[in-house]
Amino acid sequence: MLLFDDEHSKNLLTVRLHKYSIPVTESGCLIWCGWVNKFGYGKISVMDKGRWVHRVAYEIEHGPIPSGLDIDHLCRVRCCVNPNHLEAVTRRTNLLRGDTVTSAHAQQTMCKRGHFLEGENLRIENKPGGLKARQCRECDRLRRRVRYRRKKVVSNGKRGFEIMDVVV
Ligand SMILES: [Zn+2]
Ligand SMILES: [Zn+2]
Repeated sequence: MLLFDDEHSKNLLTVRLHKYSIPVTESGCLIWCGWVNKFGYGKISVMDKGRWVHRVAYEIEHGPIPSGLDIDHLCRVRCCVNPNHLEAVTRRTNLLRGDTVTSAHAQQTMCKRGHFLEGENLRIENKPGGLKARQCRECDRLRRRVRYRRKKVVSNGKRGFEIMDVVV
């Protein structure tokens, strides 16, 4: 299903997508800095509905995703929205690819945004109950750099907020 019905809404969506994304020069990944779930997949709101941001990025660049196909991240960074890192594949191919030793290894050594969790970049955080969590300093920095400005809006008679700006 196409997520925008005309060029104008496509352009607005493209602008929003890029506003909340930061390129990683070494890998070419375009990292989504908006909301991500615990598995690292990002969402963007399109006409009041949360949509997977990598699928939106794919459709903006390549057109509608054929029904029944999944979008696979060739770079294995789940919050990457660089359309050149995305490929429409059958679910079977996606599951097979995701099951490789490389991807299992990648999950241990990288944070959910794809930064290497080692050396200077690794910060161990003490959690209640003596638990420890591996945190990423690069993500700490991103979080500090990204500030949302919200504007009150009324659309279709509904009150809500729209994210207006990110100060980077
Ligand atoms: Zn990527
Ligand atoms: Zn990180």
